[in-house]
Amino acid sequence: MRTLIKNGTVVTSSNEYVADVLIKDEKIVQIGNNIDGTFDKIVDAKGKYILPGGVDQHVHFSFEFNGAKVRGFESSASAAVGGTTTVIEFVNQVKGKGLVDSIEDYRKANADGIASVDYSFHSVMTDPRPEVFEEIPELAKAGYPTMKLFMAYKGMFFHADDDAILKALMIAKDAGITVMVHAENADAIDVLQKQLVAEGKIEPYSHALSRPPIVEAEATRRAIYLAELAEAPLYVVHVSCKEALDEVSKAFNSGLPIKGETCSHYLVLDESNLAKPNFEGAKYVCSPALRTPEHFDALWNGITRGSLNAVSSDHCGFDWKEQKHMGKDDFRNIPNGAPGLQNRLGVLWTYGVEKGKITRSQLVDIYATTPAKNNGLDYCKGTIEIGYDADIVIYDPNCKSIISNKDSLHGVDYCPYEGMEQIGRVEKVFLRGNMTVDEGKFIGKEGQGKLIKGNPFGLMYKL
Ligand SMILES: [Zn+2]
Repeated sequence: MRTLIKNGTVVTSSNEYVADVLIKDEKIVQIGNNIDGTFDKIVDAKGKYILPGGVDQHVHFSFEFNGAKVRGFESSASAAVGGTTTVIEFVNQVKGKGLVDSIEDYRKANADGIASVDYSFHSVMTDPRPEVFEEIPELAKAGYPTMKLFMAYKGMFFHADDDAILKALMIAKDAGITVMVHAENADAIDVLQKQLVAEGKIEPYSHALSRPPIVEAEATRRAIYLAELAEAPLYVVHVSCKEALDEVSKAFNSGLPIKGETCSHYLVLDESNLAKPNFEGAKYVCSPALRTPEHFDALWNGITRGSLNAVSSDHCGFDWKEQKHMGKDDFRNIPNGAPGLQNRLGVLWTYGVEKGKITRSQLVDIYATTPAKNNGLDYCKGTIEIGYDADIVIYDPNCKSIISNKDSLHGVDYCPYEGMEQIGRVEKVFLRGNMTVDEGKFIGKEGQGKLIKGNPFGLMYKL
């Protein structure tokens, strides 16, 4: 099968140029002008951008909060229509099970034959027995070279104390495993939450009051010191505020292999959403909490200066009506997380590129190229180059629309970006050469996604 995409503007993380792209079976085999030959399909992309398929390094299809479970991989077509062709899922270790087995068992039951886009996994350590620390290097051999630790969520999941973080960092580094942290001070949040509830402040807005920027900054700084002590790289997921970003930037600028990501919602949604009446605020309960608008520019600057090297969705598909309402009488019981997998590229294009915050090449870098590098997937994913997987998005910059949940395939009863303007649209998407989105509609098959294993010693080891 040979498909020629003609006349589009190819955007990579370093430049853009008008060219034809030839796909043979699953790979990009030629890029140039006036490519001759016979083709099974020709797509004219004149006036449109040819972007690499997005790599969303932070999604949740398996997360559980107070017994509420998010939508699973059966909703992953929402990634494809949003221009994302590879997702990386966080799998919480099952108590009593190993890190690798927790991923493999989850994968076989819930991703293989179900996912609509390609997928990989991060391990999340939740049961830190001595033999589990010894198992960390096995993650590299299994093709899952990243591991997250929760510093937040006291009494809920295992929240990693300094002892666990330091040991994990020391063991992980020799195996090329990148340790990631959800950096918030669990004890401080617990104290603030109890105080707020005692004062009768039980509404969703209290979620933000109980997790101010300083609890994120403190944990970020502490994790950085521990990484420095262990002489190990560290990756800080979902940096949401200036204070935490300052810690990451300071560490990176002093020469330490430490970087972070932010998420689409922290760039455009502010904490006033949590105060929406009639419990609508619960739709915006995610951790870290949304911040005041002053933080937006700091985060965009963090992206352009490189201390934040990726923008993820932190997609977490809880329904509002049933699941978020578990916290109607106590904000602490509202499942943490919001959907957004489908909106990442549109939000970055509209509020990043169109507003002059980032260039198109920077967009490609933070939504595809560098996430692939961070996770050791850059041998086949994240850029438009000969030999790479033909994961390609054709983006039409001349459309305008209003984001609406009725256009979402995530299977959740709301969209946090509802009513916001979007400029441009994902017109076509190819997943390893197969057209899987056409005219903005999903035309692929459930189960077409395949497991992509990561190589150890990812980008954080090369800084
Ligand atoms: Zn997350």
